[in-house]
Amino acid sequence: MRNYVIGVDIGGTKIASGIISRRGKLVKKVVLPTLAQEGFAVSIEQVYSSIVELLKTSGIKKREIEGIGVCAPGPLDPRRGIVHNPPNLKGWREVPLEKLVSKHFKIKTRIENDANAAGMAEVIWGAAKGYKEVFYVTVSTGIGTAVIVDGKIYHGKNGMAGEGGHVTIDYNAQNAVCGCGRIGCIEALASGPGTVRRLRNRLESSSRPKTRIPDLVGGDLSKLNMETIDQAASNGDEVAIEAIKEEGRLLGIWLGGMINLLDPEIIVIGGGVSLIGRPLFDEIRKYACQSTINIMARCTPIVPAKLKKDVGIYGAASVFMS
Ligand SMILES: [Zn+2]
Repeated sequence: MRNYVIGVDIGGTKIASGIISRRGKLVKKVVLPTLAQEGFAVSIEQVYSSIVELLKTSGIKKREIEGIGVCAPGPLDPRRGIVHNPPNLKGWREVPLEKLVSKHFKIKTRIENDANAAGMAEVIWGAAKGYKEVFYVTVSTGIGTAVIVDGKIYHGKNGMAGEGGHVTIDYNAQNAVCGCGRIGCIEALASGPGTVRRLRNRLESSSRPKTRIPDLVGGDLSKLNMETIDQAASNGDEVAIEAIKEEGRLLGIWLGGMINLLDPEIIVIGGGVSLIGRPLFDEIRKYACQSTINIMARCTPIVPAKLKKDVGIYGAASVFMS
């Protein structure tokens, strides 16, 4: 019986891989550095090594594996199994990843972009279990999204749909240049770094607000990050709370538009920034409701993701579970 699936999550700094049972149990996990700066030949070997290590240490036989699901940063084409040119994987250009891995191990392989994969994992095992029309968002250093229609990922014509993080919110926002090269995408405005940058600018402006935030980073505002902001907000710092609320307002206004477009049954928000919880989600919900023409939107749940640190592995494995 093929009772297991291997999930491999290739990130810019580490490759997290695991063997997952059909019931959703993570049986074995291996984490290796991607060594992305050493180029494609080295990092693909790291991918192979992590799978070898999993098989060796878990005691699970190759014939028990249904398939290898691999998720990587986009842009990639899941249907053709090709990774185009992810900015944080040096030297990866038009890589036929699906073919390379399946040939190397003689096991069926499929690839998927990381946000789509995480969204699907939430549908199978997480906060969107039982739902079929789902909008998934991950907010961390970037903003990734997945559109799930009738229980399946919506891929679009070229396999590159669901890039909701690059919807422009403010085309005049000259100081919010996005990783994609455009200006004022929701990713540039409301991701972790977007929120940090806005707060830093405020703290460096002439009308310096009253706050203890600089003390938390030893006076060096270049060390400011979302954890510090969250910590200050938990201690009641008004300036930090306002920074989180502003992030929530931006996300809410954007999600109002997404609700207009998709009318989903549920919206799931994951990623490191989502761990802030209540103060962020309250503002997101309020502004999403205000910013949509969908009169039923008040009933659309906007909830935190359930799968936390191993979501990448579950996501990668999910391509063989649906
Ligand atoms: Zn963008």
